[in-house]
Amino acid sequence: MSRYTGAVCKMCRREGKKLFLKGDRCYTGKCAFERRSYAPGQHGQNRSKNSEYGLQLRAKQQARRYYGIQEGQFHKYFLMAERKTGMTGENLLRICESRLDNVVYTLGWASSRTEARQLINHGHFEVNSSKVDIPSYLLKAGDTVSIKSKSRDSVKFKTVLEANASRPVPAWLDLDAQNLVAKVVALPQRDQITVPVEEHLIVEFYSK
Ligand code: SF4
Repeated sequence: MSRYTGAVCKMCRREGKKLFLKGDRCYTGKCAFERRSYAPGQHGQNRSKNSEYGLQLRAKQQARRYYGIQEGQFHKYFLMAERKTGMTGENLLRICESRLDNVVYTLGWASSRTEARQLINHGHFEVNSSKVDIPSYLLKAGDTVSIKSKSRDSVKFKTVLEANASRPVPAWLDLDAQNLVAKVVALPQRDQITVPVEEHLIVEFYSK
């Protein structure tokens, strides 16, 4: 399936909640959802209530869009989550959180997950001191992530780091802001994951 290239704010409006896909803009009055909190399209303001299936579908789409993951990849993560011990829904979110693009964004090293993917593709990061340019790379507890020394002094990084310096970093990541190195202390518990979805609906969606 091809990547969605349309207006990303429409995704928030479609899902009926803010998915924070556009970096700083999401926190300003320019946010499209703040101005028009109804679904896009001619009949966006007249949509009826979702069926049970509709709710499950929307939960799956919200999580996918929040993390910027393609359908095929997301389904693969669900199958991985099922094979792990524990709650499948929580396992699924934990896998999404452990992606390198999510971690780079969470550390404040990119303004959005989309920007994180771009920066990773351009080879600006290392995992355990080796270059990794795959946004979907799954990190494990104990891994270290860093910005390549050559990249640190670029204007781009200076701007991004300055803009996101006040973003709180969750306890499952140990950030050394001085040296731009972070360690994955442990993969996150459910209460450390902020994605605005009920994961049991996603499990129900794929379990039909
Ligand atoms: Fe969603 Fe951000 Fe666009 Fe607001 S600005 S609609 S939160 S992507």
